Amino acid sequence: GKGKWKDFNEKDLLLSYNALKVLEARYLLKDPNTLRYIETPQMLFRRVARFLASVERKYGKSEAEVKQLEEKFYEMISSLKFVPNSPTLMNSETRLGILSACFVIPVKDAMTTPEGDGIYDALRATALVHQQGGGTGFDFSELRPKGDVVASTAGVASGPVSFMKVFDASTDVIKQGGKRRGANMGVMHAWHADIEDFIRAKTGQLKDVQLQNFNISVGAYDYFMEAVVKGESVPLINPRKTKIAGRDHEYYITKARGYMNEEWIQEVILSELEEKGGVVSLDESKVITVDEALVIASKEGAVVRYVNAKSLFDEIVKGAWDSGDPGLLFIDTINRRHPVWYLGKINATNPCGEEPLLPWESCNLGSINLEKFVIERNGKVEIDWDGLAEIISYGVRFLDNVIDANRYPLKQIEDATKRTRKVGLGVMGLARMFIKLGIAYDSVDAIYLSYQLAKFIFYHAYKASIEVAKEKGPFPTYDSKLYRDIWESALDFNSLLQIAEVADKPSDYVKKLTSVVDKLDFDLLKGERLKYGLRNSTVVSIAPTGTISIIAGTSSSIEPLFALAFVRNVAVGKFIEIDPLFLEYLRKYELDDPEVIQKIAESGIIGDNVFMPRSLRKLFRTAHEVPPIYHVLHQAAWQQWNDSGTSKTINLRSEEPPETVEKVYLLAWKLGIKGITVYRDKSKQQQVIYFGVKK
Ligand code: UDP
Repeated sequence: GKGKWKDFNEKDLLLSYNALKVLEARYLLKDPNTLRYIETPQMLFRRVARFLASVERKYGKSEAEVKQLEEKFYEMISSLKFVPNSPTLMNSETRLGILSACFVIPVKDAMTTPEGDGIYDALRATALVHQQGGGTGFDFSELRPKGDVVASTAGVASGPVSFMKVFDASTDVIKQGGKRRGANMGVMHAWHADIEDFIRAKTGQLKDVQLQNFNISVGAYDYFMEAVVKGESVPLINPRKTKIAGRDHEYYITKARGYMNEEWIQEVILSELEEKGGVVSLDESKVITVDEALVIASKEGAVVRYVNAKSLFDEIVKGAWDSGDPGLLFIDTINRRHPVWYLGKINATNPCGEEPLLPWESCNLGSINLEKFVIERNGKVEIDWDGLAEIISYGVRFLDNVIDANRYPLKQIEDATKRTRKVGLGVMGLARMFIKLGIAYDSVDAIYLSYQLAKFIFYHAYKASIEVAKEKGPFPTYDSKLYRDIWESALDFNSLLQIAEVADKPSDYVKKLTSVVDKLDFDLLKGERLKYGLRNSTVVSIAPTGTISIIAGTSSSIEPLFALAFVRNVAVGKFIEIDPLFLEYLRKYELDDPEVIQKIAESGIIGDNVFMPRSLRKLFRTAHEVPPIYHVLHQAAWQQWNDSGTSKTINLRSEEPPETVEKVYLLAWKLGIKGITVYRDKSKQQQVIYFGVKK
């Protein structure tokens, strides 16, 4: 009917030129024979909504209820308030069945294993995941070091880094669903004998050359960071020679052994495992620390040599300063704050770090566009908290349905994913929300707002997951006693500022703006959980939203604006972009003359332009103008209320010295961040985004 077409047109007008370009190039379905488009953006959003609502039929919902939910899903996606991660947009209702962006695949120290987790099993699994648009993370720490013996061939092992090159080459060959390049995260724990090779794998002469499809991160434990601070030495270990730090294992929770008391595992866990068929509850008091594990490893004769932790750390810092790699993953923080810690130990994350996952787990993401929740009420600009709570609730339900609608490429992935039902609700458009509220990104007010938003979103996502559990039951490995609530270990706002040695206090304006958050009752929430359980073992996750933020026409994730005008290089071509929100503000000041815009476009920033109004210069500070400490504080604020990870790039100016990277990495650890990455401008040849308009 006529009304429907009117709706179509209005919704389409929400999409920016860049959004249409991206959708056209990679998302809209085409007829495989004629290559003609067979859908419009609204048809795509409808396809996704219909597919994810249809899952509810399995749970006994009536046709009317399913239809109603489809409308809700369609409404929140087409209004660009919530957008699921790319694989869900691309693959819903199509032949390719993966809807998730994040995977962690185990790599055992064998070519292949009967369980399918040897090196070449992992390579195969990776190919299947990349083919359909997923990103993969690996911990390579179980592989024996370079030069070690290989019994079967009486040969010499080539070491983890050389195997990583095989994964890299395979990634080059398989374009994800023909639509995007594969992305990998390679992790090596700081105790591994080949750690120095690993640290240098992407820097110096090897940058822009080796492992180009990998982000790499060193797994840094607390013992390691403490040794760095004290300048002590730490052991490097050959994992083949110890039962503790790695090695092939006969039983399911084996990866947890790095943390478990060996005798207790033999006596209690193994018998329980047999009885219960794979899932056991662990007693936390029996968990040993990694320091204790290292002592045992040393008794087993697995220590290859000792190195000074500070020298190793300096190498890491130098590499990151030079090329952006390696980052750090704080393995203890990750496991301490893992709600289902009793299922095993997490050793790796997906490519961008927002999902620390157990072996074989996958996670699907979706992000809320915060910019859409800034409203004007009685002439005042405010946050629409009720509207936000509603979208959070539907967002969690949507993401939980993705787990059921997913077609998994491997049984191991399906089993691990359905055991914990992790979902990751995130955000985008934070920087634009700040601007609309008149708050500068690099201010204590902005950090406070981040903290409060994160708390609000976590509360409502968790609540929504309880609601779904009431209807559909909790995730299968939910254990009401052992499940660990992350708020018990969240740093409060003042502690964040204290640790970072920032003296400012939040203003009354931002306190009033967020006062609803102070009324949330977490004790009540916990009572509900104890009664009904949780549908998902994790509920939130801050993803980079690299592409979906373009579709939504907003700033990405929790990042500041990158530039006020810039050239964006993506797979489909070059885009020149002038920030539309900035243009709006220029208009208010009658500064929207082509000459002015042209001038600004040359550098992409206005911070150094003394002829620009002071308020604009403050509000429109871009990524490289924001002091590093504010980048880190935003990441820390979001991490406190996040049961998964927070993806963030600490963007540094080209002139920043290595000491800045050192400070950022140390501060990140102290602030309870799970993983940290820096990127110094111009430090690599291939950069996704450039400043200013290049002629
Ligand atoms: N990812 C990937 N290839 C890409 C971009 C992303 O495999 O080219 C995966 C990766 O696991 C990443 C996750 O998707 O961590 C989320 O990235 P992002 O939020 O940027 O994805 P979007 O949904 O915006 O495409």
